[in-house]
Amino acid sequence: MLIVKKFGGSSVANKDRVMNVANRIIEDYKAGHQVIVVLSAQGGTTDILLEKAREITDKPSKREMDVLLTTGEQQSVALMAMAIESLGYPAVSLHAGQVGMITTSTYSNARLESISRDRIEMELERKNIVIVTGFQGINKYDDYTTLGRGGSDTTAVALAASLDADRCEIYTDVDGVYTADPRVVKDARKLEDITYDEMLELASLGAKVLHNRSVEMAKKYGVELVVRSSLTRAEGTIVKEECKVEKMLVSGVAADKDVARIAVVGIKDLPGNAFKLFSLLSKKSINVDIILQSVGRDGTKDISFTVHRDSKDEALEILNHHLERLSAIRVESDDNVAKISLVGAGMASNAGVATKLFESLYDAGINIKMISTSEIKISVLVNMDDADDAVRAVHNGFKLSGN
Ligand code: ADP
Ligand code: ASP
Ligand code: MG
Repeated sequence: MLIVKKFGGSSVANKDRVMNVANRIIEDYKAGHQVIVVLSAQGGTTDILLEKAREITDKPSKREMDVLLTTGEQQSVALMAMAIESLGYPAVSLHAGQVGMITTSTYSNARLESISRDRIEMELERKNIVIVTGFQGINKYDDYTTLGRGGSDTTAVALAASLDADRCEIYTDVDGVYTADPRVVKDARKLEDITYDEMLELASLGAKVLHNRSVEMAKKYGVELVVRSSLTRAEGTIVKEECKVEKMLVSGVAADKDVARIAVVGIKDLPGNAFKLFSLLSKKSINVDIILQSVGRDGTKDISFTVHRDSKDEALEILNHHLERLSAIRVESDDNVAKISLVGAGMASNAGVATKLFESLYDAGINIKMISTSEIKISVLVNMDDADDAVRAVHNGFKLSGN
């Protein structure tokens, strides 16, 4: 069997964790399997590298940032190969260039385009355990790129898809996918399985247990994933096309704390202004999420929307620069907010879901700043300080703990 095993930062955070993972990898190798391992940087390393850059400048070039960040994964693969060799088994570490992991050219948020099988297959034929850097790629200029925070999951799924692996296992510091972040909701329930679509929503809405692109790719290529713990032997959660359990109304609650709200105040209430505003942002590839437009009064209106926190400064700069063109008075922003979302495929056909969500937040005394709904999810924007309480209130309101 060909197995892809991905271990996240906390699973390889220190010497003991590295040796623990090395032993788990060797178990599969000894059983006669071919093993490809994808690693993240050791826990905390990527954040330390970001901080080091910030000490030098608050506007580092994205290219150099990627050169810097890829070193985290470089360290962990080398250490893991050494650990496996020290235990008497053959291993080789490879970076994205050696594997031929080609991405789009966008630094810091690249997408994988193709992976060459040659080098990995050659190493497997030599009976090596192959340890590959997660999170990084190479673009057409032969530069390093990175896939966005949490991107090692996507590297693993891409490798599993392109090498037709029999299994793709994502090892992390919790033992599966829960109805909410188990660190926030103590009685969250572990899901035996979850569909790609629901997992994609949860991941896109802030449940960082899986990188959203990894789920997108798993769905596209039909790669079944198992999410499980590197520290225990507990059975994990299977992510796949269809689940055997009867469709649940709601599958989980997610919180996204990386959002910012922007309000453009006093826009002239004329046709075309919303178009002008959002086309300025889309030209810069700034994704906009929840949008709210106030009722026009005295010939003007306000438009507020949310963006990823990393895009806030750029968005403010563009909008302030074009205030006159937008015939707006001013732009305001607030990054002390979080987006709480309730996800479930069964929601579309149930009218009471939104009401129940609002009731749960009301009972907990939490104010809602913005609302957005779709067939499969409802999101609300709340104050950052209320985020964890809001997740608990909604989880409790929908009795997701299963107790
Ligand atoms: P890794 O370093 O292994 O990639 P991450 O920190 O990226 O791990 O993701 C695992 C974390 O995701 C968990 O520690 C947990 O706090 C968080 N998490 C958020 N939502 C969920 C959820 N619904 N189920 C499980 N874990 C979740
Ligand atoms: N090291 C990267 C990060 O911290 C990628 C990953 O862990 O998946 O975001
Ligand atoms: Mg992760």
